Amino acid sequence: MAVSSGAATTQTTKTIRVKELVSKCLQARDMAYCPYSRFPVGAAILTADGAIITGCNVENASYGLTVCAERTAIQRAVVEGHRQFTAIAVTCDIKDHFVGPCGACRQVLMEKFEKKYKKLVQKSSKDDSRDFLFYLAVANYRLKEYERALKYIRTLLRNEPGNKQALELEKLIDKALKKDGLVGMAIVGGIGLGVAGLAGLIGLAVAKGAAKS
Ligand SMILES: [Zn+2]
Repeated sequence: MAVSSGAATTQTTKTIRVKELVSKCLQARDMAYCPYSRFPVGAAILTADGAIITGCNVENASYGLTVCAERTAIQRAVVEGHRQFTAIAVTCDIKDHFVGPCGACRQVLMEKFEKKYKKLVQKSSKDDSRDFLFYLAVANYRLKEYERALKYIRTLLRNEPGNKQALELEKLIDKALKKDGLVGMAIVGGIGLGVAGLAGLIGLAVAKGAAKS
């Protein structure tokens, strides 16, 4: 009987899941609809609850309406009720060098893989790291996580103080942070009004009830 430690079993399970992820990713690539580019891409997402959801690129004659494999997989996963993702495998048929996801996919992936993006920031080349920081900042800004957005954009600006796009984004985040502070105060100030309005409505309902009886 084979005896293995818990850690070794976990490692084996991980390896099996990665192999499964890669195999499903390759199968998805074979389903690609890419008559224009003839560049098939497959993606497979491992969700936090252990499901594997795949996607392939689906092209369109307009080009712009083409959806990449990564985004197809994310959209399918979301439709099927998954919100937390653990890993993604992406493949194409180029064997001699690494092909990274496009800007649109990086942006969408960021929202689902923020922790992994942070690791990418540390490990990537200077240019890629700048892009990842920018996507992290944009996504957090859109999610109204202004303080986190500011942290990412300032890290980028420490490396590239003259980056115009980053400076613009920093201004937007700053403005939103200030506005958010004011809106917060307005909401607190509005509570009195809300209660008064509600009391007024209750009064009206009571009056109506009284009129009926
Ligand atoms: Zn893409």
